Amino acid sequence: MGLRTPEQYKASLRDGREVYYRGELVQDVTTHPIIGIAVDHACIDYQMSEDPRYRDLAVMVDPQTKEPYSRYFHLPQNAEDLLKRSKLISASTREGATLVVLIKEIGTDALFALHIVAEEMAKRGKPEYKERVQKYYQMCRDRDYGVAVAQSDVKGDRSLGPQGQDHPDYYLRVVEERSDGIVVRGAKVHTSVLTNTDEVIVLPTRAMKAEDKAYAVAFALPAATKGLKLLASAYGGFKKDPFDFPISAKHKMMETLTVFDDVFVPWDRVFMNGETEAAGFLALTFVKFHRFTAVSYKLPLLELFAGSARAIAEYNGIENAGHIREKLTELAAYHATVQGLIIAAAHQHAVMAPGIAVPNVLLTNVAKYQFASNYHDAVQMVQDIAGGLLVTGPSVEDWRSEATGPYVKKYLGGKKGVPTEHRLRMMNLISDLTASDFGGYQEVLAVHAEGSLEAEKLQTYREYDFNAAAAYARELAGVK
Ligand SMILES: Cc1cc2nc3c(=O)[nH]c(=O)nc-3n(C[C@H](O)[C@H](O)[C@H](O)COP(=O)(O)OP(=O)(O)OC[C@H]3O[C@@H](n4cnc5c(N)ncnc54)[C@H](O)[C@@H]3O)c2cc1C
Repeated sequence: MGLRTPEQYKASLRDGREVYYRGELVQDVTTHPIIGIAVDHACIDYQMSEDPRYRDLAVMVDPQTKEPYSRYFHLPQNAEDLLKRSKLISASTREGATLVVLIKEIGTDALFALHIVAEEMAKRGKPEYKERVQKYYQMCRDRDYGVAVAQSDVKGDRSLGPQGQDHPDYYLRVVEERSDGIVVRGAKVHTSVLTNTDEVIVLPTRAMKAEDKAYAVAFALPAATKGLKLLASAYGGFKKDPFDFPISAKHKMMETLTVFDDVFVPWDRVFMNGETEAAGFLALTFVKFHRFTAVSYKLPLLELFAGSARAIAEYNGIENAGHIREKLTELAAYHATVQGLIIAAAHQHAVMAPGIAVPNVLLTNVAKYQFASNYHDAVQMVQDIAGGLLVTGPSVEDWRSEATGPYVKKYLGGKKGVPTEHRLRMMNLISDLTASDFGGYQEVLAVHAEGSLEAEKLQTYREYDFNAAAAYARELAGVK
């Protein structure tokens, strides 16, 4: 089938999927006043494939069939592949005004991980998964599908695994095995973009013990599957004017509580069923790719922090003040640090069977941790430079009204020569980015998405070569 147009993508979403918004069944996600914004945002992916500015980056050609396909599906084999993937993710996020598009990024992260884990399971005497993963991957690639990933379980009591919980469904599990497939029950949470993707890949969220056999399960389903119920988040769900909210009026990502109400999965879509020893391996391998995706899509946001802070400092007439330059320097270093770590992680990749390049795990986790642990400080610096108007400013109606507009124009100007409108628009951009519901969304996204802060610290601790460092210390101390 090859590449799809944005219109074909949108048409494919009118498939009877069971999406609820504020308790009501949504008839058509593409025309829904809030979910429709997320659909239009996701169209960026398909628009970029058609756009001459991006086509070389976004599209690859199959050497055998000569058919074009989206670069997201390209299995990375070397540093160049990883760097181009990272560049594409950054470029599409830039088109999304700092909000990641994600409809192919996350699904392909999971597909890469499934290739590696299925290869390993084949070596351990389970060849069927490898064939299924390859067939499924080929279908998604050839049909240019958007693919969500539901990994995070609802988890109940966080100090426990699947066993010993108040009920057995806090982690998704297999409740029946039939001759033609399995039946699964449970719920995943925070599932991004599934309201508007074709497919969802379901992965275990953690390592499993021998007694957790029913919970060691991975599979894929079309979004429109009987019993699959998507409860869309209403966070930030109101109509916005682009003057007041220059980013979030037009860009949105939708998360769901994803309920599997005894859902049937045919065997050809089952990629793990009871292999408890492989569950943690799959969960972590996905994360190796997904954190690299994460830091790649953060770059436009970090550039905008530095850029908007610099612009508003000029409009406010304070760009040469010592403390402002210091804060701008911090913001520049923040952006450059994450950018540099991404490049290094791509170059220092490892190749895992069947020949897939995996970004350097230590550097990727350090990048993600640097990003996430400094995010709120960066927000503080941008807000400090901008001033309190971020939350006290007039609305677009005040600006346009004959009665109030002239006062706004006269009194909310800044440095001589800077039109009031420019200052207001920049304030609104920073307000949307840091002080609106979208700003709050970005903050929580920074802390938790792709794994919370402690998860990145744990990986950093595991990956850093303390033995070599300690040996060096012993050598200098003269200790044998
Ligand atoms: C905007 C957004 C989009 C997301 N998109 C997706 C998606 O598309 N697909 C997907 O699968 N997931 C997605 N996630 C989920 C994300 O990966 C999780 O939010 C993250 O892993 C944290 O899980 P949690 O939210 O359940 O928080 P919790 O796990 O409850 O974490 C809260 C705190 O508890 C701590 N904690 C948890 N367990 C323990 C323990 N046993 N011992 C000690 N401390 C513990 C954590 O370190 C953290 O400090 C998304 C999240 C967000 C915010």
